Amino acid sequence: MINAFLQLLYPKCCFACDQVLIRSENWICTRCRFELPSPGLFLEQPNWISHKLDGLIDYDRVHAYYVFSEGGKVQHLLHQIKYKGQEGLGEYLGSCVGRSFSVTDYDILIPMPLHPSRLKERGYNQAACVAKGIARASGIPISETHLLRTKQVTSLIGLNRAERYKTLEEVFEVMRPGELDGLRILLVDDTLTTGATFLAAGAKIKAASTGKLSFLALAALK
Ligand SMILES: [Zn+2]
Repeated sequence: MINAFLQLLYPKCCFACDQVLIRSENWICTRCRFELPSPGLFLEQPNWISHKLDGLIDYDRVHAYYVFSEGGKVQHLLHQIKYKGQEGLGEYLGSCVGRSFSVTDYDILIPMPLHPSRLKERGYNQAACVAKGIARASGIPISETHLLRTKQVTSLIGLNRAERYKTLEEVFEVMRPGELDGLRILLVDDTLTTGATFLAAGAKIKAASTGKLSFLALAALK
């Protein structure tokens, strides 16, 4: 009753299209749930996403839950997670992703780390929110201590993939790499644009351990 009253006073809106949600809806409306563009988590490879990585790193699979384009609803959704403090939304979407995986698919989930000063500024790591949701729904364990971001870089906006990769090459550090040996690792990030961040972090993991690497982005840029 109180909830219904609050919803009347302060209606909750869909984080993708801004339409008012009905009582049974949470975070995103039913229409967006069905209509937001998704490539399918288990696309056959090679595909347009794997083309961003193929030949550049030894990896197993790449998954993306949504496709995004400049100015589209998915980008709006991602913006809420990354810049508007909507940690819960990230975790909720992670749990939607995680329902398609089981505990036997991967041995460990590693979210793309933020630099400690960025983490302090934002208060949370958006990739970790997504990974936590996946972990909760799938049962796959998560580690935030094996991959660290030890250097801060200025914005990558406007740089091409090669320039981004060069900038990111020495940014990540792998801790206790022996513990990752032989594991099927799923590296998780909120977005995949050029793939440079995945490549830079993935190269460090591959150089330090014998783990088998896969990538998952909540959304990939088409
Ligand atoms: Zn909507």
